[in-house]
Amino acid sequence: MSELSHVRPWRHIERRPSRQIMVGNVPVGGGAPITVQSMTNTPTSDAAATIDQIRQLEEAGADIVRVSCPDEESTAAFRQIAREARVPLVADIHFHYKRGIEAAQAGAACLRINPGNIGSPDRVREVVQAARDHGCSMRIGVNAGSLERDLLEKYGEPCPEAMVESALNHARILQDHDFHEFKISVKASDPFLTVAAYQQLADAIDCPLHLGVTEAGPLRSGTIKSSIGLGNMLWSGIGDTIRVSLAADPIEEIKVGFDILKSLGLRHRGVNIIACPSCARQGFNVIETVGILEEKLAHITTPMSLSIIGCVVNGPGEALYTDVGFTGGGKGAGMVYLNGKIAHKQANEGMIDEIVARVEAKAAELDAARKVESASEVAAK
Ligand code: SF4
Repeated sequence: MSELSHVRPWRHIERRPSRQIMVGNVPVGGGAPITVQSMTNTPTSDAAATIDQIRQLEEAGADIVRVSCPDEESTAAFRQIAREARVPLVADIHFHYKRGIEAAQAGAACLRINPGNIGSPDRVREVVQAARDHGCSMRIGVNAGSLERDLLEKYGEPCPEAMVESALNHARILQDHDFHEFKISVKASDPFLTVAAYQQLADAIDCPLHLGVTEAGPLRSGTIKSSIGLGNMLWSGIGDTIRVSLAADPIEEIKVGFDILKSLGLRHRGVNIIACPSCARQGFNVIETVGILEEKLAHITTPMSLSIIGCVVNGPGEALYTDVGFTGGGKGAGMVYLNGKIAHKQANEGMIDEIVARVEAKAAELDAARKVESASEVAAK
């Protein structure tokens, strides 16, 4: 349930009930927090470079990371990569069933594999057995760009019905092997097609859904396309794990993923900065200040809010609902707000350091309170 939805019902998002599966130690579906994923783009055979990128993704907040396994060198390196990663890894497998088995043996927490594409029933059986033996879940990943020929002939072009039929065909293969630890994605680069396919799939099966608008494009336009597509589905309650697919640094995918979830009140991580666009009334340079603060506060993971508003038109009102606030005033000074209340006057000079210190102190206070709360919950059990 979204934050404060009991007093603000218009903020409430009713999530689609789904079965829960595990990706390593991370639950997906069944009401678990919506997880954010990305994918490495280093050669997997270069274990050091891949581990380095996974580390950066972990620091940015990734819950799960996917790693491609196109060849044997990759699955050979996967063992070391999986050993060093702190988050569960999904091995991305296409066609070569042996890579799937090798990745499961090497420590993959999940295989992204379409059982209908790997050939004979014996091969499918072997992959399912390897997944079972090594505690791997699976993701069936249908992509509008690589639909099976018979479905394209039947439907004439990639359409929601064809994508859902493909997904259910793959799912049936796993179900026939009594394997139910899987999630599904039905991605397209067109958000209309993506959303319609997920809506139909959500009604057709109860497994968790991995959301994404595939090949969404470069940072800005891809972010917008993903926000519209993913935002639409998440708002209607669909989705258990997300990957924003950008032609940009994978770290950006994690940041955008969290920002989408934050905007919908579905997950909170780090400082949610509320800032005005600024205008002639601004008492300080809002845009520059927000840019600097965003960088200086990037290390904070505690969910909290900060308002940076140029003048008294909107500043005091926004500050009422944020943990820390600053509102521009006249004569080179503004007002600092703490917990929604006026705290003290602050000269624009030195204001950034003051805000950073206040946010860090508030984050420490919230962390300490959360620790006490979870300790008393444990004691009460
Ligand atoms: S809050 Fe003040 S400075 Fe910011 S945009 Fe509104 S009027 Fe302009």
